[in-house]
Amino acid sequence: MANRVGIALGSNLGNRLTHLQVARDMLLKLMPENDANYTQAPVYQSEPVNCPPESPDFFNTVLEIDYIGTPYQLLEYTQGIEFHLGRGIVYQENAPRIIDVDILYFGNETIKDTILNVPHPEMTSRRFVLQPLADIRPQLILPGDKATIAEHLHHLDSDEPPLSLVQSDW
Ligand code: AMP
Repeated sequence: MANRVGIALGSNLGNRLTHLQVARDMLLKLMPENDANYTQAPVYQSEPVNCPPESPDFFNTVLEIDYIGTPYQLLEYTQGIEFHLGRGIVYQENAPRIIDVDILYFGNETIKDTILNVPHPEMTSRRFVLQPLADIRPQLILPGDKATIAEHLHHLDSDEPPLSLVQSDW
């Protein structure tokens, strides 16, 4: 049985849109054969949060796919995507990055260990995750939660400025 899995993509270095597209295409290869059941949010531009000064703006989006396999297999694959796109060792915390691939949720699973935290612990406090996710899954309630994604976005207490839409089709 496939799980519905939400994945956040972000890039703030080089050709940001291309990086999101390459990561998206690699993630779609994970889907079961003949399964075109995926949803992608629009791409947004956001100002960097907790990043070094002069960091470029991010392009952010969210993808939801069907996935057969374990969360750890998926993490290995998403880390492979980061390396494939050339994200090397980052020496500075939150330094500009070619691609960041985060697993937001994995069906109804809750995982808290040293390598994996699912649902992603910061996802409900980040506008650059909530906004695109609310576009595709506003009524989603994460395991262990009570509020929908739309409600989290509505009540978000964050000084992040609003995101700007880059493009809906990408
Ligand atoms: P980052 O700098 O955001 O790419 O963080 C990568 C590290 O976060 C990796 O070492 C992962 O093991 C860990 N991690 C924990 N939970 C998650 C998650 N839900 N998605 C992606 N990476 C995760």
